[in-house]
Amino acid sequence: MAYQSTQAIVLRRVDYREHDRILTLLTPGRGRVDAVARGCRRPKSPLMPACELFTLGEYVLYKGKGHETVTSCAVSDSFYPLRDDFDRLSYASLMLGAALSAAQPEEPQEHLMILLTRSLARLAYSDMDAAAVTAAFLLHFATLIGYKPRLNHCVLCGRVLAPGEGAWLNPLAGGLVCKSCYRRESDATPLDGPTVDWLRSVLKIGIDKTEPALRQAPVAALKRYVEQLIEQRLPKLPEYVARL
Ligand SMILES: [Zn+2]
Repeated sequence: MAYQSTQAIVLRRVDYREHDRILTLLTPGRGRVDAVARGCRRPKSPLMPACELFTLGEYVLYKGKGHETVTSCAVSDSFYPLRDDFDRLSYASLMLGAALSAAQPEEPQEHLMILLTRSLARLAYSDMDAAAVTAAFLLHFATLIGYKPRLNHCVLCGRVLAPGEGAWLNPLAGGLVCKSCYRRESDATPLDGPTVDWLRSVLKIGIDKTEPALRQAPVAALKRYVEQLIEQRLPKLPEYVARL
């Protein structure tokens, strides 16, 4: 039996009994932790703000004989502006869904924690394009789970792709496929030259340093790419993006 304090972010919350919630937390040191927050749905419960989606804080957990429980939390960020913008909320939910698919109990996830908190902060507090922030998140996420997409060569024939050359992103092949190798029946998405260059730059130096911004970030293509890797669907994109 022990108390443990850990940074964590709420990936999922399910109401439980009359006043409780079961939280699924992402932690750097222990990966996924499921814990009950007793009484958090009572009015004036000090745990209430700690039991909302996206909340980042220092959680004190207690592991006794039964369920692990949340005993207190110092909230460091609720990413509150996400709740005021439906599109940004949709993108943020997609990020949580991806994190949830990767996090396992007692498997450290320091890098995923950093990627998720930085990406949520960009969505909540910056004026960066939300689709681009999410596309960058998915690109780094694929890399973190061991499937870094190959973007410099055609994955089928090995030819080096020239800067500015368009290609097809093929999840099953693990990266880009050139014009000669592309087959119509494959589940690949066409990307134009500037988009391919943008992806390479984001993967190499990060989205903050990548210029210029794209008119239309390839978030739908990367969502399909990651869904193939994790073999499950992620939460939906905003309607107008999903149709592209
Ligand atoms: Zn090729």
